[in-house]
Amino acid sequence: MTEQNQAVRVRFAPSPTGHLHIGGARTAIYNWAFARRQGGSFILRIEDTDPERSTVENTAQILRSLRWLGLDWDEGPEVGGQYGPYLQTERFEFYRQALEQLQAKGAVYPCFCSPEELEERREAALAAGKSNIGYDRSCRDLPADEVAERLKLGEPHTWRLKIPLDHGPVSFEDEVFGTTTFPIDQLDDFVLFRSDGTPTYNFVVCVDDALMQISHVIRGDDHLSNTPKQILVYEALGIQPPRFAHLSMILGGDGKRLSKRHGATSVEAFEEEGYFPQALLNYLALLGWSLDGETTLLTAQKLCENFSLERVSRNPAVFDEAKLAWINSEYIKQMGASCFINALLPYLQDYGFTRSGAVADADGVAADVAAWRPWYESIYPLVAERVKVLADVCPMIAYLFSGPKVALDEASVEKCLRTSTAHDCLAAATEALGAADLTWDCHSIEQALRLLPERLGLKPKVVFQAVRVAICGNMVSPPLFESIALLSRENTLSRLREALDLSAAGGQPLP
Ligand code: GLU
Repeated sequence: MTEQNQAVRVRFAPSPTGHLHIGGARTAIYNWAFARRQGGSFILRIEDTDPERSTVENTAQILRSLRWLGLDWDEGPEVGGQYGPYLQTERFEFYRQALEQLQAKGAVYPCFCSPEELEERREAALAAGKSNIGYDRSCRDLPADEVAERLKLGEPHTWRLKIPLDHGPVSFEDEVFGTTTFPIDQLDDFVLFRSDGTPTYNFVVCVDDALMQISHVIRGDDHLSNTPKQILVYEALGIQPPRFAHLSMILGGDGKRLSKRHGATSVEAFEEEGYFPQALLNYLALLGWSLDGETTLLTAQKLCENFSLERVSRNPAVFDEAKLAWINSEYIKQMGASCFINALLPYLQDYGFTRSGAVADADGVAADVAAWRPWYESIYPLVAERVKVLADVCPMIAYLFSGPKVALDEASVEKCLRTSTAHDCLAAATEALGAADLTWDCHSIEQALRLLPERLGLKPKVVFQAVRVAICGNMVSPPLFESIALLSRENTLSRLREALDLSAAGGQPLP
C-alpha cells in the first residue's frame, strides 16, 4: 500500500488542553488502524507545550479515553519506547539542538522586532490593502556584527526561519486530498523559537516527527495550512518530510463545525451517556471512511484488517447521534445477558438498586448482583430491544427495584386507573395472582391473567393496562408478565392493593 520502504510509524499527537474530542478520537482511530493494517507502529505523543492550557488531568483523561475505546499504543506515555520521552515538555533539549543546527547552517535568523512594532506594521499593510501581511523580513539582512552585538547585549529576540528567496510553491501529495500546493508568497519567515525561549508548534512537531521516524502524519485538516510551513522546516533541517494525510472535519447537523453547542463531543461524555466503546469506535471509524460503502457494523479487528487511506473521504462528515445510538442498540442486542449485566453494574450502583428494594451503596449493589446473578440476567431480554444506551436502562427498570410500592406516573394513573373498570380489573388480578396454587413463573402468571378479560367482559388491553400501571407505574413498560415474574408475589399483591385504593370503585362484584 505504501510505496516507501520505510517502516510505517504513525502518531497521534493530542494537546492536553481539554478532554478527548470525538474528532481527535477519530484521528487516533485512523492512525491506530493504519498502523495495525500496515504492521507498523502507533505512537502516542502528548503535545503539552502550552503551559496555560495543558493539564496533567487532561493528559490522564485522554489516555483513559483512548484505552476505553480499545486503542493501544506501541510507544508513548505509560508504555515507553526507544524514541522517548513522549511528552513534549520533556523534549526541550531536542528542540534546542535542532535550532542550533539551523543556526549553524544560517537557515534561521534572530528577529528583534517587538510584538508592538509587528502589529503596527501589520495594520499599516492591511490599511494599504496589501494581501501579504506576514512578516516584512526587516531583521533578515541585518549586518552580522550588529546581530552579534544585539545578541550579546541580550536584546529580546525570536528565531525565524529564513525561507530561501528563490523557493517555488510548496507542494505535496496528500494521501487523502491529492496534490496540494501553497504559493510561497503566502508564507512568511515564521517564528521557530519565541523570545521567551520556547519553541513553536510548527517547529517542535517537525523535530519530533523526524526524531520519532514518523512515516505518515495523519491528522485533521485544521492543520493543512501548517503543512507547507512544516515542509519548509524539514527542508531547512535537510530531512525528508513524512507523508501527509489530512482528514476532513466533522460537522454538526447544522453544517457547522462540531462543537459543544451540538451536545456531547468528548469521548468521556459518550461513555457517561452509556455508549459502548465498540459502538463509538465503530461509528467514528465510519465517519469519513468506509469498508465497502454498505457495512455499518464492524469490529475493531475488521477495521484493522481493512483500513486504508484510499477509502478516506475528502468530504466533511456529518455527526449523526441517531446513527450512533442505532449502532449502540445493535451492540446491546448482540451482547448477551452476562456482558449486559457487567456493563450495567455501574449504573445499578449509581441508582443504589437491589433486588429487595432496599437502597444500597456500590459494594452492596455489587454483592446483590453476585448473589442474584440469574435474576439480574433475566432483566436483559426485557430491555435489550428497547434501549439505545445503557443510561436508558435504570429509569426503565426502576419498578423492579422499588419493593412493595412503585412510583406511579400521574398521566398513566389518570388514563388507566381512574376509570370505571380499573377497580374490577385490579381486584380480579389480585385474586388470580393471589391464588395459593399459582406457580410464580412467567408462563403460569400469563395463563392466569389471560383468563381475566373474557371473565370481566373487557378488552385485554383495558385489563392489562390497568395491571401494568399498578405493577410498573407506567402504561409504557417492558413486558408485563415477565416483569411480574421478576417481582415477588408479595410485592406484586402489595402494588395491586395500592392501585385498588386509587382506582375508582365501579362495576359489579366478581361472580
Ligand atoms: N497537537 C496538535 C493538535 O492537538 C496535533 C498536531 C499534529 O497532529 O500535527 O491539534
